[in-house]
Amino acid sequence: MQTLIEPAWMITMESPVRLQTGMALCIEGDRIAAIDTPERLQTLYPQARRVALPGKILMPGLVNAHSHAAMNLFRGIGDDLPLMRWLQERIWPLEGAMVSDEFVFDGTVLACAEMLLGGVTTFNDMYFFPGAAVRAARQMGMRIVAGITTIEFPTAYASDADDYLNKGLTARDEWKGEASVHWSLAPHAPYTISDDTFGKVLTLADQLDLPVHLHLAETAHEVEDAVSRTGMRPVERLERLGLLNERLLAVHGVHLNPTELALMGQRGCKLAHCPASNLKLASGMAPVVAALEAGMTIGIGTDGAASNNRLDMFAETRLASLLAKGVSQAADTFTAAQALQAATLGGARAAGLEDRIGSLTPGKQADMICVDVAQDVFAQPAPDLLSHLVYVGDRRDVTDVWVGGKRVVENRQLHDAAAILGSEVLLKRLPIWQTRFQSALGG
Ligand SMILES: [Zn+2]
Repeated sequence: MQTLIEPAWMITMESPVRLQTGMALCIEGDRIAAIDTPERLQTLYPQARRVALPGKILMPGLVNAHSHAAMNLFRGIGDDLPLMRWLQERIWPLEGAMVSDEFVFDGTVLACAEMLLGGVTTFNDMYFFPGAAVRAARQMGMRIVAGITTIEFPTAYASDADDYLNKGLTARDEWKGEASVHWSLAPHAPYTISDDTFGKVLTLADQLDLPVHLHLAETAHEVEDAVSRTGMRPVERLERLGLLNERLLAVHGVHLNPTELALMGQRGCKLAHCPASNLKLASGMAPVVAALEAGMTIGIGTDGAASNNRLDMFAETRLASLLAKGVSQAADTFTAAQALQAATLGGARAAGLEDRIGSLTPGKQADMICVDVAQDVFAQPAPDLLSHLVYVGDRRDVTDVWVGGKRVVENRQLHDAAAILGSEVLLKRLPIWQTRFQSALGG
């Protein structure tokens, strides 16, 4: 089964990032078989079904480097609060009362619908009941990196850190062999994980060859509190525990200092940059330019819908680029090409999947999107479509999405099974969840 995609322009996202014309791509099964001129591919693959995409750009799917997809159900709950009050007064009490397999499934279905329609093909997720998130992602047709999430306090999901790890590992075993399901170890953050648990995470990461995905240095308070409790900054503690290596994906990193960035760069650590969440929770602005100079790979993430409040990788990528320029006071910082690469290949590297996704490269999974970035008056004139994708583009410009060679969005519509499931959650189950939140919050 082969499909020949013939767009007006293509961005493979390999360096140097550029817009190419007169190129087509052949999908065979779940992979990209070849990229060449349409004429040559038509000769090579005479049986292939042809899909012409005039006026549109074909590029790799966006990779959301950090999400808590199920928190889509908490969108708009607890706005305008700083991180610790947001967690302690809103999120943790609600999660304690609400979180269940069903909750995670329903929230993740809504998040997948939002992300797929907005051009995101992979999300690197951290939440309770990861098996339910995987089930939702599979039914929606989206690629997931599910976190084997752990934290030291009990929830409806697990009683202690070991129980979280064991349940996550069991879920991983259940989904073995699924090409669009990947895993990471996801200890929540240094301030919620003991040395003992970090030791177990490190051993498992080595044994199972998995990335380690954790929140790090998100707020100034986190760093100060760590110093007063342990005598060490969080990065120093991770260094002593042996966690600073190429497996580590640090989320946020807003309060990493230059010495820490240099060390993390040397060790091959990656950074998931979530600018909207950092701004909304008033945590600050991550030192992205310094992190890039230190040699860190940068992916871009939305974080959860309770702290963003959208899973919009177009908005996030634009914000990342603009903030980097503003903070560094250098307009050539984090250019459109760099930002696009971070939102695709950077995210793939961050999730340990650069061999499989992140660029349009023969042999990789056919995870790609089609964007009509200059369709209306908002985008005219359009002298440079590559910069338009970052500075003008909108998630509503995404017309088609493929994950593992399957067309999961066609002409701005989710495929039938995803559309039916999404509507059912949205129309029937969401009102029930909302009533339960109100009573849990006592109002
Ligand atoms: Zn987060």
